Amino acid sequence: IITIDNLHKSFGTNVVLNGFTMDLKEGENVVVMGKSGSGKSVMIKCVIGLEKPDTGTILVMDKEINNLNREDLDELRTEIGFLFQGSALYDSMSVRENLEFPLRRHTKKFGHLKDPTPLVMEALENVGLAHAIDLMPNELSGGMKRRVALARTLILKPKIILYDEPTTGLDPITSKEIIQLMNSIRKEYNTSSIIITHDVDCAKAISDRMILLIDGINYIEGRFEELEASTDPKVRAFFKEK
Ligand code: ATP
Ligand code: MG
Repeated sequence: IITIDNLHKSFGTNVVLNGFTMDLKEGENVVVMGKSGSGKSVMIKCVIGLEKPDTGTILVMDKEINNLNREDLDELRTEIGFLFQGSALYDSMSVRENLEFPLRRHTKKFGHLKDPTPLVMEALENVGLAHAIDLMPNELSGGMKRRVALARTLILKPKIILYDEPTTGLDPITSKEIIQLMNSIRKEYNTSSIIITHDVDCAKAISDRMILLIDGINYIEGRFEELEASTDPKVRAFFKEK
């Protein structure tokens, strides 16, 4: 459903991606790990067209993301949910308004809804936060913010969800809840996902396959158990903090 081939991206002299290559099959969950600053967020931003690669191709549902005009890109993005690093809710909007925003933006998929409330409620119910519909972001805990951001992603009923560090900054119990939620969303919505995480528990619970991004390329890939058992020192470094 996603094919990334030989992705190169530099900022000035800072070479961030240097031939990164991966594919994501339909229904699959692939975890990408890598050191802070290794280019994980840049890679995922390239996938939704927020950053433009220097060279390389990215196919999303058979479309080359960098050849699309504004309108087609917008339409494709309704199929791709993106959970930004750190949730990124609109602080001046209530939970309800945060969720209505993508619906109003993508009128092609949803038409001009007279009353978006049922869709908003459905998405909030799926993350267990129907009661929070009229709260403001500053009234939510970190875990609740993450759930609202997820609901905002789900409201477009995407085929793909890209997660950028979904559990970072949360306590272990809340992390576990978010991981469970990600797994139940996957079942219910039949989504395919790339998940960026430093969280070994998250990777274990959610990945069909893992990729380590080192020096701008996919250094090694395999199932969690395979990577966990690897004796390669660069791979070990990701597991030994646990
Ligand atoms: P973390 O785990 O801390 O989130 P990351 O792997 O997601 O790290 P990126 O955010 O992808 O790292 O950044 C990779 C590199 O690209 C960093 O050196 C960063 O400074 C640089 N970078 C990212 N975005 C830009 C930008 N818009 N302009 C210039 N440099 C950038
Ligand atoms: Mg990042």
